[in-house]
This record gives sequence, structure tokens and C-alpha cells, in this order.
Amino acid sequence: MHILEWQAGGATGSAMDESFIFADDQNWFVVTQPSEGVYAIREPLHDEDVRSYLLTGSEKALLVDTGMGVSDISRIVKGITRLPVMVVNSHAHWDHVGGNCQFGDIAIHAAEATRLSDPDLTTALRNACAPERLYGPLPPGVTREALSIPPSRATTLLHGGESFDLGGRTFEAIHTPGHAAGLLVFLDRQAGVLLSTDAVYPGPLYAQFEECDLNAYLASLNALAKLAPALNHVHPSHNADEMPVSLIVQMRDSMAEVVAGRRPDEVGDDHATHWFDGFGIYVTSGYRGSRTA
Ligand SMILES: [Zn+2]
Ligand SMILES: [Zn+2]
Repeated sequence: MHILEWQAGGATGSAMDESFIFADDQNWFVVTQPSEGVYAIREPLHDEDVRSYLLTGSEKALLVDTGMGVSDISRIVKGITRLPVMVVNSHAHWDHVGGNCQFGDIAIHAAEATRLSDPDLTTALRNACAPERLYGPLPPGVTREALSIPPSRATTLLHGGESFDLGGRTFEAIHTPGHAAGLLVFLDRQAGVLLSTDAVYPGPLYAQFEECDLNAYLASLNALAKLAPALNHVHPSHNADEMPVSLIVQMRDSMAEVVAGRRPDEVGDDHATHWFDGFGIYVTSGYRGSRTA
């Protein structure tokens, strides 16, 4: 594999990141290392700005999510490590499972597993790759019409509480439903490193889908807020490689307001938005809080 040296003003046009490692020769992925043994594999030319994460120990590596499926992420993973790689999906949304077909074994929460063969994943990917949502060209030879997320199969069903021993460090899967029923985050308790996936990231939190459960989301944020004092690094799946730990508590408090019936700041056809300091929460337009919270 040929990995090109990064050239300023290249793939993203965004500011150089100090932890930058390399950009790939297909000009789609950018890899950074935001903390020890944690590699963020970004897809910065799409507005979701999603990251998959490769976590390395002394004996194994864990790939958390496989990206959009626009370009071959397995090639990037092989460029980072020669360790045996296990794949786990945080949940089954299209931008997290797109490259699953490039790997043999996939672990995912039981509540998400059947979605891996859903043809709607391909539809979602093609819709999401509308020109106005891209900051640059698709990789050479790739067209929007030909994009697809082939069905993949879960080989390990998770429920939360499982540990992934990578040699010298262990990540624990924690079930944090709300955004999706089977959403998982991954915690290295010893190092205080949290992969917060789609539970918390700096930007509008997506709680507007039919599948989203606001009460469950709040309970998950409560659980994460309890962990916060012991955390040193939080690596989210969207918009940044690292976010302030303190944002977790702010997001929990804000979600509590939304669930208690806070009036949204904007109401659109698609979703309503609650704005807070530096982030937002999207809910369905008709949502006006939940009495059961
Ligand atoms: Zn998601
Ligand atoms: Zn996502």
C-alpha cells in the first residue's frame, strides 16, 4: 500500500491537526492519533465528518466501526498496524458500518445485528453523498450511483459489559441506548479513555429519528456523566477527535431539560432543535418532553 505524505491544503483544507499521521492516496481518509494507541480514521470530505477508531494494544487491535464504505478502510488499517484486528460496530447506522464487508468477523450489539443486511443502508449512503454534502471529490473511479453497503453479518452478538483485551490494555463495551437501541461506547478504565461513538460528540446530538428513545438517552448520559470524573480523554465519532470531558455533564443536564419539556428553539418539518452552549439536540418536531422521565 502506498500512503502519501500529507500536503498542507490537500484533502480537507481544514487546519492541520498536531496529531496528524497520514492521508491516504485515494484522498478520502485522514488518520490522526489523538491519544496513546488510539487512531482516528476520519472521512473529512463528507459533512458527517465521521471517524472510525483503531485501538491498539501489544497483541491485538480493535477497529471500532468501518466508516461510510466509500473507500477501502481495511487498506488504511493495514497501513497502521500489523496486529490481528477485531471489528466491532458501535451501532448499525450507515456511516459506521459501510466497510464491514471488508472484514470477516463483526461484533455488534444484539439489538442492531439484523440491520446489517438492510438494503436501506445503501439508499442512505447514496442520499448522503449528494454533492452539497461533500467537501471534495469522491475517490478516483467511485461514483455516487455505484456506491453501496453490501450486507454484512454479525459473528458476535454483544449486550454491553464485554471486555476486549488487546494486550496491556482492555476496552469494555458499555450499552448506551438512546440515539440507537444497541448503541455501544468503549471504555479503557485504567487509562480513562472513552470512545463515546454517537452518544456524545461536539455538535447537534441526533435524537430525532423514530428509533431514538429520549428517556433511554438521558439514562445513558447519566451513566456517562458518572464516569466523567475518571476520564482523561473522550474520543467521539463525529466532528472532532477529542472533546472536553466537561461537555458530557453539560449534555446530560441539557437532555434532562429537553425530556422535562423544554420548548425547542427551532421547529422544522424534519426535526426540532434545542440549542445550548456549543451544541444542540435534535428531536422529532412533535416532541414536547416525556412524563415518564
Ligand atoms: Zn448514529
Ligand atoms: Zn454517526
